[in-house]
Amino acid sequence: MLMRLTALALVCLLASCNTLNEPAVAYGCDVPDTLPQNLAFQDITVVDSETGRLLPGQTVTLRKGRIDRVSSDPPPDNISTVDGCGRYLVPGLADMHVHLDRADFGPYLASGVTTVRNLWGFPELQVMQEEVESGALQGPSIYVVSPGLDGMPIRHPVTQLVEKPLHAKAVVQRQRDAGWTELKLYQDLRSDVFDAIIEAAQDQRMTYGGHVPHDVGLDRALAAGYRHIEHLSGYAPKLNSTGEYRLPGWEDIDEIRIPALVASTVNAGTWNCPTLAIHYGFTLEESPIRTNQNTFVRALFEGGAPLLIGTDAGATPGGGPRFPPGTTLHDELALFVDAGIPPADVLRIATVEAARFLEEEDEFGRIRRGLRADLLLVAENPLDDLSALRQPDVVIARGVRVR
Ligand SMILES: [Zn+2]
Repeated sequence: MLMRLTALALVCLLASCNTLNEPAVAYGCDVPDTLPQNLAFQDITVVDSETGRLLPGQTVTLRKGRIDRVSSDPPPDNISTVDGCGRYLVPGLADMHVHLDRADFGPYLASGVTTVRNLWGFPELQVMQEEVESGALQGPSIYVVSPGLDGMPIRHPVTQLVEKPLHAKAVVQRQRDAGWTELKLYQDLRSDVFDAIIEAAQDQRMTYGGHVPHDVGLDRALAAGYRHIEHLSGYAPKLNSTGEYRLPGWEDIDEIRIPALVASTVNAGTWNCPTLAIHYGFTLEESPIRTNQNTFVRALFEGGAPLLIGTDAGATPGGGPRFPPGTTLHDELALFVDAGIPPADVLRIATVEAARFLEEEDEFGRIRRGLRADLLLVAENPLDDLSALRQPDVVIARGVRVR
């Protein structure tokens, strides 16, 4: 008997118990704090993050941390149900530029950020990644790049210093051996060192992106096959007459140069993660920097250049306070809308496009069978106003209620 019970308990653990010893419960509109992992939301309006369409009257069934079924049929028998009461179900959001700390996991999940991409690797990160995947730790799903490869001066911990071209191969190999598949390149790499790194990375079949080194410039970064550019770095000196590459370089730009820059970005297939929220955190509300970056981001969007939504949350600029995890993502969504991008497209960028960039479209970004059960339940239509996503009624990450 004891043997049988133990075996049942084990099966129960693996299968989340629903069909074994828990009766199926029908919850109303008030969702309890803990939910069974095998669950159906009924009377849900599914927000299709790819097309920007609403699908009312849906039942969304979750099993073992995955979306099992999206249908207008009633829920299957023997499964607990939550009455969505017409509310909106949205895929979990992705912040594609963060600097992660364990203390951030809660704030990200509470804000509906169920996926993050950490933009400066460190050894502990791979441990965190495994802990989230195994369920040992509740946190957003984590995607990573290597620690930054840079020249002097060293600006951040774990910098992989590459001062001479002949060192490039060994440094790149070291990243590969440490398990990173994408290199983060940083601003003070010398031009000849940059070329040697690109050659070594291509030999190792590694991808790369990050900041455009000042000594290299935008044109060569695009030609080298940069997968992504962070903070719009490298664009300002192509748009201003002073060659200033830092944020003040956006104060006075020549708009006539924008279309050619957009076209070369599209041709290179390079993604941009503008991180507007932190830029505007440094500037006044109505600054020309804000107006000009808005104009440029809108031009990238309208020209078909792929965009990512990321925040630099967790970074400590100039040793100051960290940009807050979670809420900064919602600021970034609002700023994309402010730049003239329709809310449905902004939501698509923060979900479907993030997954496309990471080649993880079978894992997250949509409400579709087989994907991770990363979901937000919200009361108002987010396509009318994305601020509806700031305070979700329910957040589910990997099938577990986390808010
Ligand atoms: Zn960063």
